[in-house]
Amino acid sequence: MFDLIIRGNLVLENEVMYGEIGVQAGKIAEIAQPGKLKSLNMQDFGDCFVFPGMIDAHVHCFSNPHEGFAATSESAAVGGLTTILDMPYDLAAPITNLARFQQKVERLEKEALIDIGLWATIAKSGGTQQIGLLADAGAVAFKMSTFETDPHRFPEIADSEIMKAMTLISQTGLRAAFHAENNEMIKQLTESYIQQGRLDPLAHMETRPPVTETSAVLKLLEFAYWTGVKLHIVHVSHPRTIDLAMIYKQMQVDVTTETCYPYLLMDAYDLERFGPKAKNNPPLRLPEDVVGLWDHQLQDHIDLITSDHAPWGSDKKEVGNTNIFEAASGMPGVEILVPLMFEWAVVKGGISPVVLGKWLSQHPAEVFQIQGKGKITVGNDADFTVIDQDQSWIIDEQAFKSHSKLSPFHGREVQGKVIQTIVRGTTVYDGFEVKVKPGFGRFVAGAAVKKGAYQ
Ligand SMILES: [Zn+2]
Repeated sequence: MFDLIIRGNLVLENEVMYGEIGVQAGKIAEIAQPGKLKSLNMQDFGDCFVFPGMIDAHVHCFSNPHEGFAATSESAAVGGLTTILDMPYDLAAPITNLARFQQKVERLEKEALIDIGLWATIAKSGGTQQIGLLADAGAVAFKMSTFETDPHRFPEIADSEIMKAMTLISQTGLRAAFHAENNEMIKQLTESYIQQGRLDPLAHMETRPPVTETSAVLKLLEFAYWTGVKLHIVHVSHPRTIDLAMIYKQMQVDVTTETCYPYLLMDAYDLERFGPKAKNNPPLRLPEDVVGLWDHQLQDHIDLITSDHAPWGSDKKEVGNTNIFEAASGMPGVEILVPLMFEWAVVKGGISPVVLGKWLSQHPAEVFQIQGKGKITVGNDADFTVIDQDQSWIIDEQAFKSHSKLSPFHGREVQGKVIQTIVRGTTVYDGFEVKVKPGFGRFVAGAAVKKGAYQ
């Protein structure tokens, strides 16, 4: 007798199989042909796809302090995510030391509705001595930037500090991830555009040409070569970045890459059309670059797709209507990442659900060494994202559970709907409402966590 049986089109590691999953104590206990397993509790999803629980490795719960874990994780649950990894660039205090990390874990355990892992970062100078402590405390990975978004919250880290950090991070076995843009070039170009009075949306794209991303990435690849650190490049916007990563992979650099749904679904003309709502860093690229990124994604050269959920309030975006440089960068995404990518890849692209499951679940789990998640296999957590491919729905930004109610995807009809989100055998979202209370979600400790740190 199992606690629960889930029946449907199971998206396994190498095939889609119509069958059943027996769940016991929150774990996958058996996978079988339909009708074989016994339980008083059966969830029959017919021919809907039962994916391994989707994981969004790039989420900012606290860049807007009004958002927090509760709103983001509720939004994520509705969007079919069972685990998110939260970025460290919190307002007002980024996660640069052990005390802040521990406080954040405590808060997570009170507020989370789904499972959450936490990124850490380092202070602009002298921050590297916290790396070992943060790894011991269960940071899932380290994020740094070569671009100065904010001198305190999201600083540019100097090359010598990056080299020090990479050496220390390589000793933890965790991954060092980077926001890779060339600070000096972008600052200079932005200044000259402002002087010329070019404050329109496309000025944002033109002041961050592809070379500002690829040159920063090339430097980091070379640093990773010499330090041996596992490198991850977040939010890749241009196909040439992937070309460079592939060259360095051949030189045994352990580099993984990620793109985000806006880079696959929009281009620079959407930035022109939507203005600040479609402003992100790096910016949306030209249509031919988007096609180049598709080619890499479809050939499985890009490890994972994330949302880069940035829950800005409308005030932070509206200031950009007259001057694009004033608008905050980023957009909300945890609620629409999975359905939009399902539609793009499976419904329109003819890609197997198995492949989508790798981009949105298996690869993020592997890249960030998350134990017990990422695959429908016996012994793993019973985390599932159920999608009905026959239902369509319309994105309504006002209905987002996030505090950020602005999206360039507002009003778009999407084929394929998340009808259930299940975390450790419990229905977190039933297709209509969220069914668990804050605190149900658990802290997902990183692979270098010290034994006994959380008991
Ligand atoms: Zn981000």
